[in-house]
Amino acid sequence: MTRSGKEYTERLADGRRVMMDGEVVSDVAAHPAFAGAVESIARYYDHAHAPENREAMTFTSPRTGEPVNRCFLIPRSADDLATRARALRRSAELSAGLLGRGPDHVAAFFAGWAGRRDVFARGGPGYAENLVRFYEHLRDEDLFAVYAIVPPQIDRSKPAHEQADPHLYAGVTREVGGGVHVSGAQMLATGAVLADYVLVSNIAPQRPGDEDQAINVAIPIGAPGVKIYPRRPYATGATSVFDYPLSTRFDETDALVVLDDVFVPWAQVFVLRNREVCAAQWIETPAHVLGNHQAQVRLATKLDFAIGLAHRIAEVTGNLAAPPVRGALGEMAAHTVVVSGLLAAQERNCEIDDEGIAWPGREECFAVMTLQSELYPKVIHMLRELCGGGLIGLPSSAADFGHPEMGADLERYVGGPGEAAVERVKLLKLAWDLVGSEFGGRHQQYEMFYAGAPFLVKQRMYSVYDFDRRRGLVDQMLGEYDLHTALPGTS
Ligand SMILES: Cc1cc2nc3c(=O)[nH]c(=O)nc-3n(C[C@H](O)[C@H](O)[C@H](O)COP(=O)(O)OP(=O)(O)OC[C@H]3O[C@@H](n4cnc5c(N)ncnc54)[C@H](O)[C@@H]3O)c2cc1C
Repeated sequence: MTRSGKEYTERLADGRRVMMDGEVVSDVAAHPAFAGAVESIARYYDHAHAPENREAMTFTSPRTGEPVNRCFLIPRSADDLATRARALRRSAELSAGLLGRGPDHVAAFFAGWAGRRDVFARGGPGYAENLVRFYEHLRDEDLFAVYAIVPPQIDRSKPAHEQADPHLYAGVTREVGGGVHVSGAQMLATGAVLADYVLVSNIAPQRPGDEDQAINVAIPIGAPGVKIYPRRPYATGATSVFDYPLSTRFDETDALVVLDDVFVPWAQVFVLRNREVCAAQWIETPAHVLGNHQAQVRLATKLDFAIGLAHRIAEVTGNLAAPPVRGALGEMAAHTVVVSGLLAAQERNCEIDDEGIAWPGREECFAVMTLQSELYPKVIHMLRELCGGGLIGLPSSAADFGHPEMGADLERYVGGPGEAAVERVKLLKLAWDLVGSEFGGRHQQYEMFYAGAPFLVKQRMYSVYDFDRRRGLVDQMLGEYDLHTALPGTS
């Protein structure tokens, strides 16, 4: 059953320990650093839970017969992928694509894993069943999982087991009757402050000896021993929602996850000390492409938002009629259409595997992942360019409008023909929060790295692309002539 925003928010009071500014924060829903983001996630849940959105946003759980969020769907056809994408798009539009790791991201990974439980069964008895039961638990109770799948950058020249302490990177330290104990850290879990569970696993290549880190386990954020260290939150430094409309409401947080001898019951262990299965879960199941397909639906939404902003700003500055400005907007639009078009192609060119699961087209999925680290900064740069100094010539805060003398000056020198100063300032401050604020800078880093370091993503693109088919065209051409071939019309 889908849950309401209120039910989501109430569940956050689980004794979690968020380590920030020298204090331990437990009540994240009430803390100014996180309250806005909690409200945004609650809105996500309310939207899917509303009876009028049931048809678009849910499907029927095969286990309970209740409506559950489409982000948990295990797709079996191109139609399934397209219907799922439409629901993901509606969710993404609630935040203009600014919540990168909302509840529907890791849900897609679990759907992909549950569809190919056979991969987990290779790890030994019980793991596949644990995985499927946990997927059903998330789906049927509409829970929010995030993941931490990359180790900290302590010393990347050495594998996990050769670090100064072999348990710096999160891994299993011992097995006990009811489960395992996990210690160590993972570099980043976006959304960990706001979620119900963190999934701890590894996507980075592992070497013999790294078996303790070759795991996939789900841990409640409030479990004893879990410590969440978020980077500096952006909402607390903001003067008002008007001044920082995005920082105050959509800062999903990114956090170092520290696990201090955390007990994980067997039911939440899906891979244990198995490098082969730990690697296979990303490649031999559709989890990775389903998760990235979701991430790209969100990216396309955010690009649409950036272009909408650029168009509105060109209009208020009176530049919209200039052909070069229209050309720049056209170029921005072309970038967006590339992403949306490749998303549609992923759905249409899906591959149905031998278990009947639909994998979004891999070439197209990796093409977006390869391009996005340059495409997003470029679109943001073009938006910045169209805004010019207008982004900087703004009043220091919303409070200036309340002062008679300042308010009058702003009206005279900042407003436009037929447009109140407050409306123009509102629009430009919105743009600044996307391109220039600390929140905006983090988003640039996010789009460049969330799918992996660009140099690695390009190598994955190489591995999924069918070069043979294209080489065939070259062979065909080379086969049509040799040293002795006469010029056409001369023989
Ligand atoms: C905002 C944000 C949110 C994130 N959220 C999550 C999350 O929710 N969960 C999660 O698990 N992870 C998350 N990550 C981490 C993300 O998965 C990693 O940043 C990504 O996998 C790249 O790893 P890295 O940062 O360790 O970069 P590195 O692998 O250290 O690479 C950094 C740079 O070093 C250079 N480099 C390194 N090695 C080589 C080499 N062999 N050859 C050539 N150049 C090299 C490249 O220039 C590369 O770009 C997030 C990251 C960011 C920035």
